[in-house]
Order: sequence, then C-alpha cells, then structure tokens
Amino acid sequence: MANIILAQPHGFCFGITRAIKLAQDTAKKYSNKPIYFFGELVHNQHVVDWLENNLNIKTVYLIDDIPHNSVVIIRAHGVAPEIYQQAKDRQLIIIDASCPLVLKSHQTVRQLVKQNKDIILLCNKIDHDETVGIVGEAPKSITPVTLTQIFDYQIKDPKNTIVLTQTTLSTTETQKAFDFLKNKYPQLTILPHICQATTERQQAIIKLAKKHHFVIIVGAPTSANSNSLRSVAESAGAISYIVDNVSELNPEWFTNQENIVISSGASTPQDILDEVIQKIAEITRR
Ligand code: SF4
Repeated sequence: MANIILAQPHGFCFGITRAIKLAQDTAKKYSNKPIYFFGELVHNQHVVDWLENNLNIKTVYLIDDIPHNSVVIIRAHGVAPEIYQQAKDRQLIIIDASCPLVLKSHQTVRQLVKQNKDIILLCNKIDHDETVGIVGEAPKSITPVTLTQIFDYQIKDPKNTIVLTQTTLSTTETQKAFDFLKNKYPQLTILPHICQATTERQQAIIKLAKKHHFVIIVGAPTSANSNSLRSVAESAGAISYIVDNVSELNPEWFTNQENIVISSGASTPQDILDEVIQKIAEITRR
C-alpha cells in the first residue's frame, strides 16, 4: 500500500465554518419563516445540498425570487452593495455570511475610491463570486484582471493605481505577477489580500509537493482556493489532480506512486475527504 500523507492544515477555514454555523443558527432562530441563500453559500455542492436538505433553505440567484419578509443569507464570498439594497427594498431579514476577510477587501476598496485611486483586482476568474462582489463596490474605479491576463494588461496611470488580490489566489502565481508588475511599473502600489487560511494551506502543500511529487486535492471545480492548491502543487514540481469526490479518482494515476500527498479545499467537508483517502488506500493496496 502507498504511503498517504495528509497535509496540515487542510479543509474548512474560519470563513466557511462561520458561514455554515450562521446558516444553522438562522434556521433555528427563524424556523417560522422561509429562508433563502443568496448564491451558493460556499463553493462546495455537497455542503450546499446538505444545508438545503437539512435546514430547509433554498438557494436563489436573484433577490427578486425571494418573497417579501423572508430571511436571506448572503453567501460567504460576499456581494455587491446593490444586493444589500435590493434585499432591504424587499424588506428581507439579512443575515450576512460574507467572510470578514472578504469584507475587509470591500472596505479597502471604499477607502481607495475616496482617494480617487484606480484599482486593479487580480483574480482567478472575472465572474468569480468574490470578484463580482468587490467590483460591485465601485465598477467605474475597479478593473478585474486575471492572473493570466495581467502580463498583457497596460496600466495607464501606475502612480495612481493600486493592485489588490482576490483572497484565494495561488501564492506562487501571484508572486510571479507581482514581480512582473513591480519591474514594469515601479510606481505601482500592491496591496495583497490573500488570506491566512489560503496561505497556510498552500505553504503546507508546496513543502510536501517538493518532497513527494504527487498530490491529490479534494475540492469542487468552482472552488478557487482548491484550484489554487492544485496549481501551487504543480508549480512546486508535482503531478497534481483535483477531484470533487471519490467517483472522480482514476486508479491509473496511482500506478508506481509510493507517496501520495492529499489536501482539501477550504470548503470541502471532512467526510468527502475521508472517503477519498479510504478509496486511495484500497486502490493502492491491490
Ligand atoms: S478562504 Fe479565506 S477569505 Fe475565503 S472564506 Fe476562507 S478565510 Fe475567508
């Protein structure tokens, strides 16, 4: 049997734990009212399905789809100010499950806009929920640019431009972008907002990937931090795969692998990770 090495830390971060707890508390407190999630509470369908089925909460993507006087729980990745306004206009009870670290980015944006700064938000995807929410703070002042686009992007007024980051980017790829930008635009100001949970999980994987060269990440395809974990493992020289659940494991990947490093994204439940670990143990025992 191969040696299975579980990275530490892995799995749920503080923001996701908090969002799930808020949903559970809200279901208890407002058991007499209809409750809705605005957007996926967290980027993991297993968690969302469990919450919807056990707490009787429905996910919607438009505030207009929520009946007046219901309860709305705002997703962990945050939303634009206009969504809060729409919810208020509809007399909804708002429970904000936005991660406080994402809200910190919103706050930074508001301060920079007051100073008339141009802002670039480095992101993994333009349409990621966190990106959409932050850009919604000041669409005229913020330009979302992906980690791949940034190398071709022309900054018109570098002296007045601030670069922020999404909280869950690959630290390795972001550093490459920063080095490039600092070299091309020495007057640019960079304010990284990659969160501590993301950084710690990536540091653990980079260390293990450099030593063992084979990494499995358990996380949803929509989860930016899970994809970043896979990306940093690859940048550290490992063969790396991401699976949402046990059914996506391909036994051929494990041929001749003696040491298998495993980690899970910040929104991946422990039981899904445990099933994957158990299956890998079975595959490599044959
Ligand atoms: S990954 Fe970081 S920013 Fe995102 S929810 Fe977790 S703690 Fe918050």
